[in-house]
Amino acid sequence: MIYDPQVYAIEDKPMVPFISEKEIEETLQNAQPDKSLVREIIEKSLNKKRLSMQETAVLINATDPELVEEIKQGAHRLKEQVYGKRIVLFAPLYVGNLCINNCEYCGFRAANKEQKRTTLTHPELIREVEMLEDMGQKRLILVYGEHPKYNAEFIADSVRTVYEVKKGNGEIRRVNINAAPMDIDGFRTVKEAGIGTYQVFQETYHREAYASYHTGGLKKDYDWRISSLDRAQEAGIDDVGIGALFGLHDWRFEVLGLIRHVNHLEAVYNVGPHTISFPRLKKASNMKCDSQWEVSDEDFTRMVAILRLAVPYTGLILTAREPAEVRQEVLEFGVSQIDGGTKIEMKAYSEKEKDQDLDAEQFEINDNRSLADVMEELIEREYIPSFCTACYRTGRTGEHFMEFSVPGFIKRYCTPNALLTLAEYLEDYAQNGTREKGYRLIRKNLNEFDDNGFKSKLEERLERVKQGERDLYF
Ligand code: SAM
Ligand code: SF4
Repeated sequence: MIYDPQVYAIEDKPMVPFISEKEIEETLQNAQPDKSLVREIIEKSLNKKRLSMQETAVLINATDPELVEEIKQGAHRLKEQVYGKRIVLFAPLYVGNLCINNCEYCGFRAANKEQKRTTLTHPELIREVEMLEDMGQKRLILVYGEHPKYNAEFIADSVRTVYEVKKGNGEIRRVNINAAPMDIDGFRTVKEAGIGTYQVFQETYHREAYASYHTGGLKKDYDWRISSLDRAQEAGIDDVGIGALFGLHDWRFEVLGLIRHVNHLEAVYNVGPHTISFPRLKKASNMKCDSQWEVSDEDFTRMVAILRLAVPYTGLILTAREPAEVRQEVLEFGVSQIDGGTKIEMKAYSEKEKDQDLDAEQFEINDNRSLADVMEELIEREYIPSFCTACYRTGRTGEHFMEFSVPGFIKRYCTPNALLTLAEYLEDYAQNGTREKGYRLIRKNLNEFDDNGFKSKLEERLERVKQGERDLYF
């Protein structure tokens, strides 16, 4: 299909690009943020209903400080009521930074000759994973540049290798990937290796802006990228993550682009994305982007609250690109997954001497705290850090949807499993006073279980963890 900028709404069909700029722009122009309407929309979301593009646009246009506060409070309530206090933790692992593309914003782009290029060898990959296991990580996202060397077989092989590494009580129980789009056979190959989520970001949903940032390599094909998650679905990968890189174009446009993408996947495949990522553009070596579309902290936090309300049952991921203060704030509004102890230089988890040179990494990160520090802080703020992988491993797919729609699911599965993985962490990796603080938090949460039969089952499993058993879940 040839893209026609005059077409308003594009019908959802498998593998057919679905973004109409006219639809997004007119939806934004026409959305009137009347007070009563904004409140009705917040209420709708609190009643566990997903918002339309039009409703999301109304929230975006509501800039009156009183309404902004109500949107943030609504997002906070939704998060507390629906998800409780769990925060899922993961770490990124860069497998290779060879790249044939020329994304203007990325330190890995081919034209950046100052970038050191590395692909982890098999022993190096094992070493990195061992170090991550030694920190207590259980969930990884493997990240790759786009290069013929990183074909589906290579990616599948690295995924299998990661699953095989066991150090002490450590093991990686879920391997997600962030890699260039593949064809359907390629997606089948990585699925067979047991990936969790396949994640790919559209970067910007705006075609013209997309063309201006992606001038070389395969990534310049907007249609190939926007249809990649359809191909993943066709290959049987129903656990996918979408995202936009905020700072390339108007953030309001990108939010509606993300919602339109959710609608498309739900319309065609009956399952929305598992997660949404919303990285903000950060400084990178020889980066060429200007700051015209930079998203302020204020707009960023408002945007996270709007996304939470718009897609109540989709996981929201926030990474260490953001500084600790911003991370702390937006946790309140609905982020459900964060990374901890992140390093994005190649081989950085295993090499003692940290390369301080920006050329060594893809972009700058702003939260350099160790996993232990992030854990301690979450526990102090009474969040329950979770390394749970139970749904994925028991074949309960669509976990966020279940959390949201199956009454009692969080109390029966998610919270107990989070507490069990926290206990494992406290036994095997906690430092200083974190162990005591962590067990106090577990006790406090146990006391909130009103079903005594279930509570004693959980207590019995927590005791088994203390006695050395691992990987217990409901
Ligand atoms: N090469 C693959 C691709 O482009 O899809 C996957 C890995 S790429 C390293 C992961 C993501 O990093 C990109 O999708 C992009 O959104 C993000 N990224 C690149 N440069 C960035 C920057 N300067 N600041 C923040 N995020 C950036
Ligand atoms: Fe390569 Fe991905 Fe960086 Fe683009 S964003 S230059 S494809 S690594």
